[in-house]
Amino acid sequence: MIEGHLVIDFHGHVGRWDDLGFVDDQSAMLLAMDAVGIDRSCVFNIFHPEGSIGNNETAVFVARHPNRFIGFAYVSPLLPDLMVPELERAVDELGFRAIKLYPPYTSYPLNHPAWDPIYAFANERALAVLAHTGSGEASEPRHLREAARRFSKASFVAGHAGNFEPYRSQAIKVAQDCPNVYLETCSTFRNPGLIEELVDRVGAERVLFGSDTPLMDPRPQIGKIITAAIDNEAKGLILGENARRLLNL
Ligand SMILES: [Zn+2]
Repeated sequence: MIEGHLVIDFHGHVGRWDDLGFVDDQSAMLLAMDAVGIDRSCVFNIFHPEGSIGNNETAVFVARHPNRFIGFAYVSPLLPDLMVPELERAVDELGFRAIKLYPPYTSYPLNHPAWDPIYAFANERALAVLAHTGSGEASEPRHLREAARRFSKASFVAGHAGNFEPYRSQAIKVAQDCPNVYLETCSTFRNPGLIEELVDRVGAERVLFGSDTPLMDPRPQIGKIITAAIDNEAKGLILGENARRLLNL
């Protein structure tokens, strides 16, 4: 909690990726959250394509501190028959509140029909879809335009806000064109002034704080928002109010 604002981190991971030094040590994650006033972190496991193993791990992780963590469902179009049943289970039984997509594992750009059943599910339930965006054909944020227009009741969140150029500009342009596209802030590629630029070009109501915990330490990730040259109302929206609205909390 910061100055009366609920703080929600929209991007966090469960699982481990040892090559990157990435380990989901929950107590270390909570320590960092507490140090900077993060009330709740959204987490997902992207390491199991069939979804259920990773989603169950996420559910166990969240259940240890259900007032601090929020589960997102992960499924992959590499196993198309399993996607929708697993999404139904993750949302209806595990209580997950949004969907995470990781296109670098696939050869499918985000406008490829392989993703459509996931988008249709999100559209039907009015859920948010957080997609990793950045370099690589599959992850280019420009492809979200078509999805956002076709599935207008779903919300599409460009993870890392496209990360670096030219993908960052693509993400900004898509958000300018589509009212149901949001930009999420985590990245190591954040030059001074970027948060101000996102707010200026897209509006604070469509920028979401995310940290990529535990791959990245949430403390510096939130620092660039707290110290940005934007007003307090904009900071409140970015730090939690927008996420609260998108997740129906
Ligand atoms: Zn991530």
